[in-house]
Amino acid sequence: MQQFRHNIDLHCHTTVSDGALSPAELVALAQKNRLNVLAVSDHDTINGYRECKPLADEAGIKLISAAEFSCQIDKINIHMVALGMDPNSDAMKKAEALQDQIREQRAVTISEKLEKYLSIPDVLTQVKAISGNSVLGRPHFARFLIEQGVVSTMEQAFNKFLGAGKIGDIKLIWPEVGDVIELVHQAGGKAVLAHPFKYKMTKTKLSRLIDDFWDMDGDALEVVSSRQKKDDTGWMIRQIDKRNMMASFGSDFHASASWSDLGMFSAIPEVGLNWVHNSILEEPVALSIIEEK
Ligand SMILES: [Zn+2]
Repeated sequence: MQQFRHNIDLHCHTTVSDGALSPAELVALAQKNRLNVLAVSDHDTINGYRECKPLADEAGIKLISAAEFSCQIDKINIHMVALGMDPNSDAMKKAEALQDQIREQRAVTISEKLEKYLSIPDVLTQVKAISGNSVLGRPHFARFLIEQGVVSTMEQAFNKFLGAGKIGDIKLIWPEVGDVIELVHQAGGKAVLAHPFKYKMTKTKLSRLIDDFWDMDGDALEVVSSRQKKDDTGWMIRQIDKRNMMASFGSDFHASASWSDLGMFSAIPEVGLNWVHNSILEEPVALSIIEEK
């Protein structure tokens, strides 16, 4: 699964959600990696974009507003990358508030359970001091448990308290994908089904999921997400062609590693796909592979 450096990345994360780099560090990396177009798609919030925008402007990088929304479709949890919304629109503020409320409710429940079980008071206040401005998630609880000396690693925190079947394993009930797509459209954005192969479905089931997404007015599929087999990319192109959808792509970058970098993902064959970013940008930008020097 060979990967290449590209000039555009439409899916990545910062410390605003679960990424390792701050917005400033991410923009600096985008500049170093010679990206022209970037969409910062932090989980359930557009704050990554909001923070990166002035820095990207300064660096001469075209920044597309984005967020990766958790939603459900037929009781299956999926991720949807929303691109090109007006971040100040009522619809987007509503979408963000909805996700926030769901996470907050879970955090309250986990906190109550941990308080009882470990006899530690005010868990939520302390976890929020750790999460700061980032989207509140279970990793913040894990860090809290380490700080309290209850466990010594993140892995232990998940194995003992937060992972599947443990007391902190509170299921989130995300909004229906159709409702989120509607809000994204109201805000002038496009809805992209993120990393379709990550849902570990058979191709038959995945094809049905794409049908449902398309029926609910979804706009695009990620034809390539980070490292991907050539055959899978071919299959995804056929899914896009069949329904006349738009195509998106990205690294889903969270942290630097030998196999992961901003702008780095498997090649996409030139078959005249209709790129979602060009339906948002004023002037089209061609996706290209950056030659290593
Ligand atoms: Zn992502």
